[in-house]
Amino acid sequence: MSQNDMNNDIERVLYSEADIAEAAARIGRELSKDYDGRTPILLSVLKGAVLWTVDVMRHIQYAEIEFIDVSSYHGGVASSGEIDLITDLKADIVGRDIIILEDIVDTGRSLKFMVDLLNKRGAASVKVASLLDKKEGRVVEANVDYVGFDVPNAFVVGYGLDYKELYRNLPYVGILKREVYAPEHK
Ligand code: 5GP
Repeated sequence: MSQNDMNNDIERVLYSEADIAEAAARIGRELSKDYDGRTPILLSVLKGAVLWTVDVMRHIQYAEIEFIDVSSYHGGVASSGEIDLITDLKADIVGRDIIILEDIVDTGRSLKFMVDLLNKRGAASVKVASLLDKKEGRVVEANVDYVGFDVPNAFVVGYGLDYKELYRNLPYVGILKREVYAPEHK
């Protein structure tokens, strides 16, 4: 599927490439200031947060990078409620400052799962920087410390976020047309 075809499946662009670049720079600068003199680990949540992570990282003075993969959606548009650890991070995190880089926090279940895991393993601190915060979707308590944008309660794709592995390469974030994932609404 080409980017042109994907553009046609978007109902509305919410955040442009320029909006996102600005948010990455703003949060990168805040993190550099807040972690001055320390080397935090940026923990990027696969696969959706990869673009966000590298764009934020460009603006941080000192940081290491690690990856983790947890799954809650299983390819659909609604959270299944059950979190699986698909790929664990490689680093020893005892005594380390961790910043979880998320694409979007919805129910909060994935985030809570990761925060609990990292605290249990002895991280010195755990903070969260998410491109998008879908506050209305929250089911469990999960706090986002650095928010790119507060997003409305809709299914969004682009800039790393997918529907069935597509749309991640769009440079912006937009609402996916309902008819794409619910053909009866055509
Ligand atoms: P939570 O555990 O907070 O419900 O879900 C977090 C994960 O669900 C995100 O990392 C993302 O993979 C997925 N997710 C939640 N909302 C959306 C959305 O609107 N669009 C896409 N593409 N994924 C979403």
